[in-house]
Amino acid sequence: MNLQLPVAGLERYKSTSQRARIGTEAWGALNFFCPVCKSPRLDTAPRNTVAVDYLCPKCASPFQLKSQSKPFGNRIVDAAYSEMKRAILSDRTPNLYVLHYDLTQWAVRTVILIPHFAFALSAIECRPPLGPTARRAGWIGCNILLNKIPPDARIPIVECGEARAVSEVRRAYRRLRPLENLKIEMRGWTLDVLNVVRSLNKKEFSLADVYAHADELAKLHPKNAHIPDKIRQQLQVLRDLKLLEFLGSGSYRLH
Ligand SMILES: [Zn+2]
Repeated sequence: MNLQLPVAGLERYKSTSQRARIGTEAWGALNFFCPVCKSPRLDTAPRNTVAVDYLCPKCASPFQLKSQSKPFGNRIVDAAYSEMKRAILSDRTPNLYVLHYDLTQWAVRTVILIPHFAFALSAIECRPPLGPTARRAGWIGCNILLNKIPPDARIPIVECGEARAVSEVRRAYRRLRPLENLKIEMRGWTLDVLNVVRSLNKKEFSLADVYAHADELAKLHPKNAHIPDKIRQQLQVLRDLKLLEFLGSGSYRLH
């Protein structure tokens, strides 16, 4: 994988942000592959396709690219809040490639892939409406909250300027893919509990460890009055997905 961003044809673009957008899109067309099937490349999507930048020529999986010149923090600026919410609720979010480039080196530094089934409503934050003087006054955008997406679902493609093996990326994607089969109303809960379990930073943990985060989960799901029941149910779901195992007497081990 060549991490240098292409330069050809960029002379006609005046603004740096425009050059970066065109340059990173062109880099993606040369380097992105499909994590879902064996396709070694992705096709650029037709210009008018909303929220989709690439399509897999073999399995038709859609992909979106978000690029930024700053290293990743917890937030990634995304499109309109209402559209993202609708996409999540109707299970139409594309797989997302998030790319950080170095402007001075004109090179790719970090790329992560977030599978389309890893977005829950809790990972989306509504931004304040644009002020009255803005061109699109009143428009409401959203942020994607990276820390609300389980670390397993932030699959590294390029880390600190080094590309990871394609086979490893496909394996990481495949491991999570059973989540795709869960109904969307349920999947949000599963992802939130998985994120809590991962945040414990322990290979083995107890039910009490997860219960200690009940308030956090209650904030994400204010309509649910039975948080402990829900936690136990979701741990069973994660076990059935083979993401963890039950050791007995309220102990669990992550896979
Ligand atoms: Zn594919």
